[in-house]
Amino acid sequence: MTVAEIALIVAVWGVIAWAVAVRLGPLVRRHQPTEPPAYAAFTQPPAGARWLRCDTTACGHMTTLHTPQPSGAYGCTGCGHTAGAGA
Ligand SMILES: [Zn+2]
Repeated sequence: MTVAEIALIVAVWGVIAWAVAVRLGPLVRRHQPTEPPAYAAFTQPPAGARWLRCDTTACGHMTTLHTPQPSGAYGCTGCGHTAGAGA
């Protein structure tokens, strides 16, 4: 086997290794850890606010933050619907 033949075999295997790395690279990198998500900043809820169920379709009967109203009721911060005492 001549030096030229050995160089040709090494070159061919180099091309094959490069092609496999290009093909399999995304599959291997898919399982690497990603950057952690940014966390939301904590904000203090308004004084006297309560988490109450909101029975409107806008809020979908979910528990939302309600703030005290002058009438004594609690207003939903999601849709404005009032609930609770005096609503
Ligand atoms: Zn609501």
